Amino acid sequence: MTRNDELFDRARAVIPGGVNSPVRAFGSVGGTPRFYVSATGPYVTDAEGRDYVDLVASWGPALVGHAHPEVIDAVVDAARRGLSFGASTPAETELAVEIRRRVPIAEKIRLVSTGTEATMTAIRLARGATGRDLLVKFSGHYHGHSDGLLAQAGSGLATLALPGSAGVPAPIAAQTLVVPYNDRAALEAVFAEHGANIAAVITEAAGANMGVVPPAPGFTTFLRELTNRHGALLISDEVLTGFRSGPSGYWGVLREAGEDVAPDLLTFGKVVGGGLPVAALAGRAEIMDLLAPLGPVYQAGTLSGNPVAVAAGLATLRLADSDVYARISRAADTVSVAASAALDAAGVPHVVQRAGTLFSVFFGSAVVAGVPDYETATRQDAGAYAAFFHAMLEAGVSLPPSAFEAWFLTAAHDDVALGRILEALPGAARAAAAA
Ligand code: PMP
Repeated sequence: MTRNDELFDRARAVIPGGVNSPVRAFGSVGGTPRFYVSATGPYVTDAEGRDYVDLVASWGPALVGHAHPEVIDAVVDAARRGLSFGASTPAETELAVEIRRRVPIAEKIRLVSTGTEATMTAIRLARGATGRDLLVKFSGHYHGHSDGLLAQAGSGLATLALPGSAGVPAPIAAQTLVVPYNDRAALEAVFAEHGANIAAVITEAAGANMGVVPPAPGFTTFLRELTNRHGALLISDEVLTGFRSGPSGYWGVLREAGEDVAPDLLTFGKVVGGGLPVAALAGRAEIMDLLAPLGPVYQAGTLSGNPVAVAAGLATLRLADSDVYARISRAADTVSVAASAALDAAGVPHVVQRAGTLFSVFFGSAVVAGVPDYETATRQDAGAYAAFFHAMLEAGVSLPPSAFEAWFLTAAHDDVALGRILEALPGAARAAAAA
């Protein structure tokens, strides 16, 4: 038995599935999840001392690479001054100011600890602001694990959703309407039937939890017009894309593409905490000011705006200048082009989809025409991805352990790290072809 197997057995005895978040269990690719003991720059090191070029980046936060010295210094410095006060600190305001500098439509910001809390609170706020209950979400978009967001589409388009997890009460799931992404007609139908009762549409700024599925050109603008027409709010979830797909998140990517869309509320997470638990909801001041203590919508957190976590987020964002985004973008170009070439050479049908610096690769002939929505994403060849994933892991490259995830680059992926990825790709592509 390897050291890693021992660690997994020990974990499984006391932790459900041996993991504290399900995707870590390798459920969709098979095999035993690796236990990591350290990470630096573009590398993670497992408990057996093997290092891997990391394309997970903690699912996004490690924008400037793992354990960047300036981030670690900021964290250590903050920790020495006290781990938590349960009172305001100057740095919280600095982080809010930095967020608003990058995304000026985020007029006011409330810091929380997880993306789940941010979206949950944004929805409560939308309901409080409109006096309406229903929420529209897109199939395949993930917004955390609060009850109302673990909903799945029922049989008909304009019907109320069913629970997406055991333990979610049907009446709560029924407050959510689930529609296919990038489908204007489905949205029109849902608003035609329920428009007067819809508090908000929540959308990932660019879909990145079913593989990367960006909004079709004009789709986000359409969402803004439709919600305006019906007096509903638009919530853009940038927990994954925020300050990663570009310096101003996917909001900025869209703006550069000529779509200047102002959602009422936005949510941030991941990069905004630089690897420690910080997330945020933000938006128009008049709506944000409905939060307690100013307004009637309640929200709170013992560790909200925690000084050590805020130090990590602030240091990360301050490091994330245009050069950082240019490096990540170049690395994404290099890896996505090389992956595609290796798969072509091995005869593996695939399509690469991109949203700013984020991309993912969908395997299989059923998806080569492009993936606009979740239904199409489910037709990918997960078996081919699993074979590819394991061959890459054996060769020392850690990809996301699921075909439904983005590949994350960091500014620390230098030529050496990229070279190791490029070397591993042809063999992994042949493994996918043989699967
Ligand atoms: N929204 C999006 C778009 C996400 O990608 C995630 C996490 N992957 C969440 C919300 C939930 O964030 P957290 O895991 O911090 O609760």
